[in-house]
Amino acid sequence: MLTAYADTNAAIAAINVVDVDHYLLKPWEPPEEKLYPVIDELLAAWQRDGHTAERKIKILGHPWSAPSYQVRDFLARNLVPYRWYNVAEPEGQRMMAAAGVTPDDIPVVITSDGEPLIRPEPAQLATAVGLSTMPAEEFYDLVIVGGGPAGLGAAVYGASEGLRTVIIERAAAGGQAGQSSRIENYLGFPDGVSGGQLTDRARRQALRLGAELITARTAVGLEIQGPARRVVFDDGTSVLTKTVLLATGVSYRRLPADGLDDLVGRGVYYGSAATQATACAGDHVVIVGGANSAGQAAVFFSRHAARVTMAVRGDSLERSMSSYLIEQIAAIDTIDVRTCTQVDHCGGSDHLECVTLVDARTGEAQQVDAGHLFVFIGAAPLTDWLPAGVVRDDAGFVRSGPDLVVDGQRPAGWDLDREPYLLESSIPGVFVAGDVRSESVKRVASAVGEGALAVTLVHRYLAE
Ligand SMILES: Cc1cc2nc3c(=O)[nH]c(=O)nc-3n(C[C@H](O)[C@H](O)[C@H](O)COP(=O)(O)OP(=O)(O)OC[C@H]3O[C@@H](n4cnc5c(N)ncnc54)[C@H](O)[C@@H]3O)c2cc1C
Repeated sequence: MLTAYADTNAAIAAINVVDVDHYLLKPWEPPEEKLYPVIDELLAAWQRDGHTAERKIKILGHPWSAPSYQVRDFLARNLVPYRWYNVAEPEGQRMMAAAGVTPDDIPVVITSDGEPLIRPEPAQLATAVGLSTMPAEEFYDLVIVGGGPAGLGAAVYGASEGLRTVIIERAAAGGQAGQSSRIENYLGFPDGVSGGQLTDRARRQALRLGAELITARTAVGLEIQGPARRVVFDDGTSVLTKTVLLATGVSYRRLPADGLDDLVGRGVYYGSAATQATACAGDHVVIVGGANSAGQAAVFFSRHAARVTMAVRGDSLERSMSSYLIEQIAAIDTIDVRTCTQVDHCGGSDHLECVTLVDARTGEAQQVDAGHLFVFIGAAPLTDWLPAGVVRDDAGFVRSGPDLVVDGQRPAGWDLDREPYLLESSIPGVFVAGDVRSESVKRVASAVGEGALAVTLVHRYLAE
């Protein structure tokens, strides 16, 4: 959008209402400084998004197949462009015949070399599309578990300050932030920024500075071997390191509604499934939750769906959502906010077709037709895989620093002649940053800041 200085409000409204990517203010002289670099950057980002790239990877699947959704979601979150073929349509059937596969084989991924991968596992898929799935070295200075803002922040500082650094990420770099349709409160982005764009920049920055990123590997064990720490992966392989940063964030809590579990990936999604945006066209979408993430999703899907219903357990949005979002939602006619409301039942044979909502004040149940339901109901840390020596609070968040010293007593097994550093866990050399840390502020900026601070403490630990 091209506008004049006096019209900045129009530009901000355009960003909020129709998702304008960027606006330029006149005058833009000298263009070498004010115009060309901005256009270059926009074109480069557009190319990276795959809009112009030839989409060599093809997915043959069914819109209501959960494994097909998982494959699409994995590639989309890792910013790998692909072409989608619905096997229920003639073009998809032609592709199936050409690849020599049957509907029982879906999802089928055809990579650039033409080889069909039948129902690929994430690690197999990652390798096939050129993502690293195995660490290149045997021994690192810093292994970061989790590639969200905290992990990426730590990788940028760790790698740029000379530490041999690797990030282990089970799904896609970016974490929760990568799924946010627009982050409004991150410093330095006055017009907001999509989570995907922000975390893609961070990922590229970390790689350019020398960090390694391993995708589709889940850390399932942490062993202490004298001064070394071993991080074990889900396929039984492992990597050795001097220090570890736990940056595993949080995952959505399961919604305990009758019939819902069977429909996950077939109309029911945890978090914001951007790949489903076009499939929601003309549909009724139900969003469960009342915090900012649910509000962002309601605004996002209202651009595609005919109607959006927000099912909010609390009696108002004010306590859980930022006022700018409440105002945006109030201004969109097609969003209906139902407070004191819970999802009781999800129904549908092949995919989600209806949702039963219950008003907690009156007990009244209403069945509504809906093809999509997105769940945003708070989050829990997934820290069960850590050894007992890593002290956690009652909810499973990892305790660190001063929180570990109770009545002057250091944590059990702590054998150093000092107290744990600010972000150090109860195991020396194992640090924690971001949402997974007990009492942390659940924000992108805090996660990035903690990741950076953790690297300073890693240096201090290595110098001991
Ligand atoms: C939809 C949405 C919108 C949001 N909007 C905003 C906003 O506008 N402003 C704001 O400040 N905050 C926002 N937040 C919150 C913000 O995104 C989080 O606070 C932030 O992402 C936390 O970063 P993190 O790195 O600690 O964890 P996460 O972002 O949760 O990243 C953790 C990563 O670790 C990986 N992982 C977990 N376990 C393992 C394992 N065992 N092995 C390997 N990898 C593992 C996960 O796959 C994930 O990628 C939003 C969150 C959501 C969900």
